Order: sequence, then C-alpha cells, then structure tokens
Amino acid sequence: MMRVKTPPVVWRSRNHRYKLVGSKCKACGEVRFPPVHFCSCGGEVEEVELPRAGRLVSYSIVYAADEESRERSPVIMGLIDLGVTRVVAEIVDASPEEVHSGMQVEAVFRRIGEDGETGVIAYGIKFRPAVG
Ligand SMILES: [Zn+2]
Repeated sequence: MMRVKTPPVVWRSRNHRYKLVGSKCKACGEVRFPPVHFCSCGGEVEEVELPRAGRLVSYSIVYAADEESRERSPVIMGLIDLGVTRVVAEIVDASPEEVHSGMQVEAVFRRIGEDGETGVIAYGIKFRPAVG
C-alpha cells in the first residue's frame, strides 16, 4: 500500500512565501491578496497563484519618520494592477524619479527582516520595474 504524504507545514509556508498566492472566492470570484480565509460575500475561497507581472496604477513616496527605517527612506509604495486583482506593495530598484503610473512591474522576493534570536530571515513580496 502506498502512503500519501501530506506536505509538511514548512513546505506550505515556503510555498506561500515564494509564490504570489492569493485567494479566489468560489461563489463570486473575487480575488484577494494577501489571501483571506472567507470572502466578504460568505463564499468559500480557494488558493490561486497570481500573475507575477502587472501595471503600476498609482504610488506614493513615503518618507520614514522613525529612526529605524530612515536609512531605507524614502520608500515607494505602489498600487499594482495584476489583472485579476490589485495589490499594495513596495516598489524597489527604482528611484522616485524613475517611477511613474502605468509602468510595468514584476514581483520579486526581498528580505524584509531577520529574527536576531533565531537567525530566520523573512522575505516579502515587493515589485520592481519589469526588465525588458
Ligand atoms: Zn465571494
């Protein structure tokens, strides 16, 4: 008899970290990112992989106020249209002068922090100007 192994939790969370996984409502079809467990219509949701490329709809340049994040300041926060849904994420690899509404962007995974005690490095999804 073959035993079917279910993927361990670690694999599942890694999967979430390196793919752009959203949720899609089976009832109304609404796609959300980050994924939600229940749709606002009450429908059941399922996981869907989202397109990695999209168009920058609008953006704002955020100047950090606190000491800790000042070295990364300013931060460009963008609203990105992926076709099936819109996401809010940081725009990297571009200066404020280079960023403009309507530009093509693609998802990248960037380090967002490190847990000093465990040494675990967290990665998050950000977007950069699309290459080519
Ligand atoms: Zn729904």
